Amino acid sequence: MEYNNLSALLRRLYGAKIRKFCIDGGFTCPNRDGRCGTGGCIFCGERGAGEHIQKKGVAQQMAGALASVKPGEKYISYFQNFTGTYAPIEVLKERYDAALCDERIVALTVGTRPDCIDEDVARLLASYKSRTDVWVELGLQTESDLTAARINRGYKTEVFESAVETLSRYGVRAVVHLMAGLPGEDRAQLLRTVDYVNRFPLFGVKLHSTYVCRDTVLCRMYEKGEYTPLTFDGYVEDAIAVLTHLRPDLWIHRLTGDSPGALLVAPLWVRKKDPVLIEIRRRMAERGLRQGCCYVGPQFPLIEKP
Ligand code: SF4
Repeated sequence: MEYNNLSALLRRLYGAKIRKFCIDGGFTCPNRDGRCGTGGCIFCGERGAGEHIQKKGVAQQMAGALASVKPGEKYISYFQNFTGTYAPIEVLKERYDAALCDERIVALTVGTRPDCIDEDVARLLASYKSRTDVWVELGLQTESDLTAARINRGYKTEVFESAVETLSRYGVRAVVHLMAGLPGEDRAQLLRTVDYVNRFPLFGVKLHSTYVCRDTVLCRMYEKGEYTPLTFDGYVEDAIAVLTHLRPDLWIHRLTGDSPGALLVAPLWVRKKDPVLIEIRRRMAERGLRQGCCYVGPQFPLIEKP
C-alpha cells in the first residue's frame, strides 16, 4: 500500500471487520450559536459537517445500529455532527456512556473543534481508555490564519496547538482534519499545512476536497464566480502531495469526504469515492511514491495503537 491506511491497522488491532456507527449527539457548534460566531464555517451546511441530523437520543440510535449488526463485526462509535465536545461535562458523559453500550464497540471517536477541548473534556475522554480505544478528530482544515478568517473558522491556529497538548497530557490521541481547495489556497499553502501538522504527536489525518453545499456562504461565492472547486485531477494531485510530504508514522483515516447527497452543488465528482482512491494509488504506484517519501524531519516509529 502506498500509504498507511487506517483500515489495515483496525483489522490488525481488532481482528475483525470494523464498521462505524455515526452518531448524532445532539450537539451544536460555538461557531453557530454565538459563542464565537453565528454563521458557521462558510462551507458548513445544515448537517454541521456530519451525517443527517437525528431526532433520536444516543441510546435509541445505538439500539437501531446494533439491530443490524452481522456476526463477527466490531464497531466504532463516532460522534460526527457539529462539535462533539460542546456541552456540559455531565451531558457529554451521559452521551458517550450511551454510545459504549455493547462490548463489540472497540473505539470511541469524537469530532470536535480545538477550542472545545479543555482539561475536563480531556480527562473525561481519557477515563474511557481502560475499556475502549479513544481518539478525537480536530477540524483544523488549514494552518493559515488568513484562510481561517476567510472561511470563518472562528479560532486562531495556536488554539490547535494547545488542544493537542492538553489531549496528549491525558494520553488521548488526535486526528487532524484538513481540506484541499479552500478559497484562496493553492498546493503550496496546503503543503505548509502538512509541514505544520507534521510537528505534532497525532494519530492520523483526514483529508478531503472542499465542496460546495446548498445554502452556504461558499455556495453564494460559487454562484457569483468567486470560488472555483478543485477538479478531480487537481484533488488527486493535491492528495498525492499531502501523502508524500506527511510524516510516515501517521495513519490516513480518510482521503475523500462523505458526499452531502442532495445538498451537493459542486464539484459533482466527489459523489463517487472509489475512482478518487483508485487514481491516487495508481498514480503513486506508477511514480514509485509512498507516504512520507518527501518528508524531511525527525522519524518516529509507526503508531501501533491510538
Ligand atoms: S466547526 Fe464544524 S460544525 Fe461548526 S460551523 Fe465549522 S464545520 Fe460546521
